[in-house]
Amino acid sequence: MSENTNGKINVRGVYFDNVTMDEALDKAVELINTENFSYMVTPNAEIVEACVENPTLYDVMNGASLIIPDGAGVVYASKILRTPLKEKVAGVELGEKIIEYASKNNKKIFFFGGAKESADGKAVWEIAAEKLSEKYPGFEAVGRDGFFNDEENEDIIAEINASGAKILFVCLGAPKQEKWIYNNKNNLENVNFAAALGGSLDVFAGVSERAPDFYIKHNLEWFYRLKKNPSRARRMLKLPKFIAGTVIHGNKKGR
Ligand code: UDP
Repeated sequence: MSENTNGKINVRGVYFDNVTMDEALDKAVELINTENFSYMVTPNAEIVEACVENPTLYDVMNGASLIIPDGAGVVYASKILRTPLKEKVAGVELGEKIIEYASKNNKKIFFFGGAKESADGKAVWEIAAEKLSEKYPGFEAVGRDGFFNDEENEDIIAEINASGAKILFVCLGAPKQEKWIYNNKNNLENVNFAAALGGSLDVFAGVSERAPDFYIKHNLEWFYRLKKNPSRARRMLKLPKFIAGTVIHGNKKGR
């Protein structure tokens, strides 16, 4: 039987918020408007399994104030554990709702991540910002690409601090983005809400598409992504391992 701490649902040692999309947005807005720094992570089955295999990641994930289940596999595991999560909350969808909120409330977002240059010479974050400000008038984004070396990290922090943005999207892929937030959070002077959002900037920019509705509705988004990008197969092997591990070990942390 799975334990339920402070309303959170434990799935193999990661403590998820049991929220619908609307509740997740309410909580994100509350955190955006709280001066203290906080962050949100969006783990799917693959990332929970990465925690199981590398337990140092648990602190990185569970240190977040909002942990949403961004995958059908996590919701399925919560049902196996008999503490069902209400629904899958896709990070990319929640990210867009936060953008809509920011556009209506004059809040600037810093987009950190994505490729330096796409076919038309612009960084992915710039194309994403342009498309989003057409869709959400008044939306203002600043940003930089997500390819950098350790020596550049200090400059990146300075750039984020100087931007004055209170909301930061970190889109470097998992678990790099979560580790980056965890390791740098004490140096972020103005940001009070950071969100780890994987490939979302690519979706906003139109560089990569989300699966058609049919796949989303039938919990087959993972299958669509695999079809489009067979090199993900290795990473996706974590999904059956994660489900089998849940059946065998319940919500036990680690292996
Ligand atoms: N990325 C980045 N820096 C890196 C590695 C990746 O900015 O060093 C970006 C990449 O361009 C893409 C995103 O991170 O936009 C990862 O997308 P993916 O869909 O693989 O995310 P995940 O499924 O890992 O959350």
